[in-house]
Amino acid sequence: MDLLSDIKFLPGVGPKKADLLSMELGIKNAEDLLRHYPYKYVDRSRFYYLHEISEDMPFIQVKGQIVRFEKVGEGHNQRLTAIFTDGHGSIELVWFKGIKFVVEKFHTKVDYVIFGKPSAFNGRFSIVHPEIELAAKMPPPEQMGLQPFYNTSEKMKSSFLNSKTIQKIIFPIIQTIKTGIPETLPAYVLKKFGLLNLTESLVNVHFPKNADLLNKARQRLKFEELFYIQLNILQQTKWRDQHYTGYVFGQIGHFFNTFFKDHLPFELTNAQKRVLREIRIDVASGRQMNRLLQGDVGSGKTLVALMAMLMAVDNGFQACIMAPTEILANQHFVSLNEFMGDLGVQVALLTGSTRPKDRVVLHERLRNGELNILIGTHALIEDVVQFANLGLVVIDEQHRFGVEQRSKLWKKNAQLPHVLVMTATPIPRTLAMTVYGDLSISVIDELPPGRKPIQTYHYYETKRQALNGFIAKQVEAGRQIYIVYPLIQESEKVDLQNLESGFEYISETFPKYKVSMVHGKLKAKEKDFQMQKFITGETQIMVATTVIEVGVNVPNASVMVIESAQRFGLSQLHQLRGRVGRGAEQSFCILLTGYKLASETRKRMEIMVRTNDGFEISEADLKLRGPGDLEGTQQSGLPFDLKIANLAQDGKMLEIARNVAREILETDPQLLENENRVMANQLKKMKTNTLNWGSIS
Ligand code: ADP
Ligand code: MG
Repeated sequence: MDLLSDIKFLPGVGPKKADLLSMELGIKNAEDLLRHYPYKYVDRSRFYYLHEISEDMPFIQVKGQIVRFEKVGEGHNQRLTAIFTDGHGSIELVWFKGIKFVVEKFHTKVDYVIFGKPSAFNGRFSIVHPEIELAAKMPPPEQMGLQPFYNTSEKMKSSFLNSKTIQKIIFPIIQTIKTGIPETLPAYVLKKFGLLNLTESLVNVHFPKNADLLNKARQRLKFEELFYIQLNILQQTKWRDQHYTGYVFGQIGHFFNTFFKDHLPFELTNAQKRVLREIRIDVASGRQMNRLLQGDVGSGKTLVALMAMLMAVDNGFQACIMAPTEILANQHFVSLNEFMGDLGVQVALLTGSTRPKDRVVLHERLRNGELNILIGTHALIEDVVQFANLGLVVIDEQHRFGVEQRSKLWKKNAQLPHVLVMTATPIPRTLAMTVYGDLSISVIDELPPGRKPIQTYHYYETKRQALNGFIAKQVEAGRQIYIVYPLIQESEKVDLQNLESGFEYISETFPKYKVSMVHGKLKAKEKDFQMQKFITGETQIMVATTVIEVGVNVPNASVMVIESAQRFGLSQLHQLRGRVGRGAEQSFCILLTGYKLASETRKRMEIMVRTNDGFEISEADLKLRGPGDLEGTQQSGLPFDLKIANLAQDGKMLEIARNVAREILETDPQLLENENRVMANQLKKMKTNTLNWGSIS
């Protein structure tokens, strides 16, 4: 079989399924299918009894009979339920689709094997859309073994392209590859680590002969995945180091020193000092700096950025700082000007709202070198913006920018400027190694003194009255309040609080206070207007969606209420919480949820209540999500897909893979040796996003 020929020619596929596979999962040929690994396996080698099941079980297999069917509801809301018993207990089977089919095909008083995920509701267990087969037709459970589960989308499922179908499509491909397909790892690597070869691994990852072989197959495929990511990044980094030299900021001069002596309103924290030293070493080294600065919200990254920019100015270079929103750019402009006062550094602001007349002047001052520091939004990227000699680019809240936007900025010079990207979203080490390769990382792990840690509480929605009282008290004391909603409008599908109803409710509950409303569908101008009213204190309460997540600084805001907090991931909750706790007053974060929560969600709330430490939270986040139920709606947070490796669990393997890649590149950087060719070819084939991300460094 030609692994690269179009998938629609495979048995059991056809044009319609082929289209779906390609659109939904990017699967275009047999090889892509083989690389679409199951995301979990379920041991079907035993039956459960219904009295022993619990909500925590991912899947159960039970043998028994249907007692009766019942149709509930009308039209779209119609569902079919069946009471199923195995003589030890009973469970409800539920169908929302294909009702007619189910009623015709399945009957009472016949032995079936059902299979699915149990969930509990009102003290009763049910399985939605169970797999159901005639018991007489099933092989004995000892022969069923490990059943693979494949990730599919809603769209695929509604066209009957479910996990089972995928399994059926893959089966004949596996039969043909058993004779062997080309290996992708060099023989000496396989040997050194005792890895299974590719053919064996693919066969066993899809149709495991036993748990041991499955484990070996997964180890090999994980290694391969991590290894190539690292090889790719490291090769690029090497290339970059050889081709680019960095500007040398040899001296610490007038501006930096004067600022440090006369303008700094407070003592730098030790962490800020350490990071500044790290930057200083980089920019004086002759290598181009590529540094990621991680620091929790409120840790004082802006000041570090300013002082790094002064290093550039002292050495005759220009510097710029790019922020993801106009509001943030404005805030930077105001606070940097405040910091510098009469220092004499020429600073300008460039955003979408800068008037054309002012732009012309600004462009000219930039080009002739009169301007020292430019602050702005992605307006900075435009081609008409030309620097005389850009020495340092600072990017704030880097995760908000696309790779291309960023790289455009540092391609403005013939020679690459130094780059400092800043983020308040801490990244665990394993993730940083994967995403950023050899990017240097600085961490501000210390908040300025005198900050009161935010107090976080998890409330059930039933406590709304008490919460309202608390809000009123805070506003009366002169504070401001954020209330964040997961949805803009009411939704039929999910039971979540929404902004529009929330706005009405808040306006009615607090007729005396003024309320701002901000969400992603507002025009930028209107959004800024509403934000501005809150920043100036004209409005006391801000109801918003997560658009307020990034960087907004309103030190007087002391309460962050997050509605339907179960809907947000840990990192996002932490980001949102970081909007308060910026002033001298005690701040609070209130997480509101319903009473019934999945155990994972409850853990998330507990972690938030327990700690304010962004790194602890991001580690926990990675662990909690684990290999992930891919059918869930959670975002992986990665800029690319890992198909099989899991950063929370495979950190050790990642490090090994990285070392192997490094060793290989040291002796054969171009991968030209015969035994290494296979890697050069494989790299060429990978056109993943990793490549782009690697190239920011
Ligand atoms: P972030 O890291 O979230 O961007 P900012 O740079 O906005 O944080 O800093 C938050 C606040 O802390 C600002 O008002 C800033 O002036 C103040 N700040 C920064 N460094 C210090 C320090 N060493 N001591 C006291 N306050 C500081
Ligand atoms: Mg900031």
